[in-house]
Amino acid sequence: MRRQATLRSAVSSVLAASIAVTAVTPAFAQDGRMVGRRPDISTDEGGLWAQSDKAETEARTKAELNRDPDLTPYVRGVACKVAAEYCGDIRVYVMDRPYFNASMAPNGYMEVWSGLMLRARSESELAFVLGHEVSHFAHGHSLTTWRTMKSRSNVGMVLMLAGGGIVGSLLYLGVMSTVFAFSREQEMEADRLAFERTVKAGYDPAAAAALWRSLREETAASDFPKTRTSDTRGSIFNTHPITPDRIAALDGLAAGRTTPSEGERTRYRAQIRKFLPAWLADDMRRRDYGQTLHLIDRLAADGEDLGVLEFYKGEAYRRRRLDGDQDKALAAYTAASGHADAPVAVWRELGDMLGKVGKTAEARTAWETYLAKAVDAEDRWLVEANLKKLNEGSES
Ligand SMILES: [Zn+2]
Repeated sequence: MRRQATLRSAVSSVLAASIAVTAVTPAFAQDGRMVGRRPDISTDEGGLWAQSDKAETEARTKAELNRDPDLTPYVRGVACKVAAEYCGDIRVYVMDRPYFNASMAPNGYMEVWSGLMLRARSESELAFVLGHEVSHFAHGHSLTTWRTMKSRSNVGMVLMLAGGGIVGSLLYLGVMSTVFAFSREQEMEADRLAFERTVKAGYDPAAAAALWRSLREETAASDFPKTRTSDTRGSIFNTHPITPDRIAALDGLAAGRTTPSEGERTRYRAQIRKFLPAWLADDMRRRDYGQTLHLIDRLAADGEDLGVLEFYKGEAYRRRRLDGDQDKALAAYTAASGHADAPVAVWRELGDMLGKVGKTAEARTAWETYLAKAVDAEDRWLVEANLKKLNEGSES
């Protein structure tokens, strides 16, 4: 509770410092589009930029910042395609955080979270979300929100996440939760503009509705009844949920257009393949295994990466421990072991599970396979001890 209170007061002071600035901004053109120059610090937009600059500076030092040399340039390339004329304004930061989220601050600082990268099934889906954020940016939505903000109720939700330790950047959360509380109309408009931007850039017109639909399905797959009946959001900061009418609007826009993108999923998967194990392990830290399992099924639907995906499916079932989950875990680990990309840990888990159900010979084979494959594993001694115990038991 003390931690929570400290967080709350820190965020309040961040917000208070920014809201105190109240003059009118000059950085938007007559039609509401951003003209791209830095506003004066004495204006309310200037205050907003200053806060965004601070959050961006802090983001660069975060442990969750993905420092892979290829990933951020790749995401930036996608953002640029849909941002078009705003490409030069955008600075992309990929964060390894297991929630679906992307955001773009008024100063051009864009965060893309791994939870979004893991849930997009194609570059088109990723492009749509980035295009959505660019559309908020281009039309000054966050400034409108900043000016009209009366309530800080969504800060509580974000603080809950921050208190949970998974999402750590306090300043960022404090600023963004206030900036990105868009209205229903702004969300609908950003969807429509993002659709136009992505289609113009050559992406799949059906991707937008498909992604929002799949997010709603994931909500419905939660282990927790309260989550299952709650709203689905395209960003943890959004106050307006992804509703069936938003999806219907996107379906309407896509109707009659052709989907050009055979092989698009395969190409996107190649970009994120090496991160799958770490991101899936992160996702399980949310402890909503029903949702993780739903996500894994979607990732497995194209028949790629099955060794990795079946392993994490096994992990989700093993940890959840509902009725029947142990059998499902064993089945998933067994399936994983038949694929060339299975992590070596598959055979350790198989040994543990088979040993528990008295399948001694199979457990022995699994542990021996693990020791043969995992030459440098830190837990070799443990598996060796298990194996010794098993051999002694079978001799007596
Ligand atoms: Zn939005």
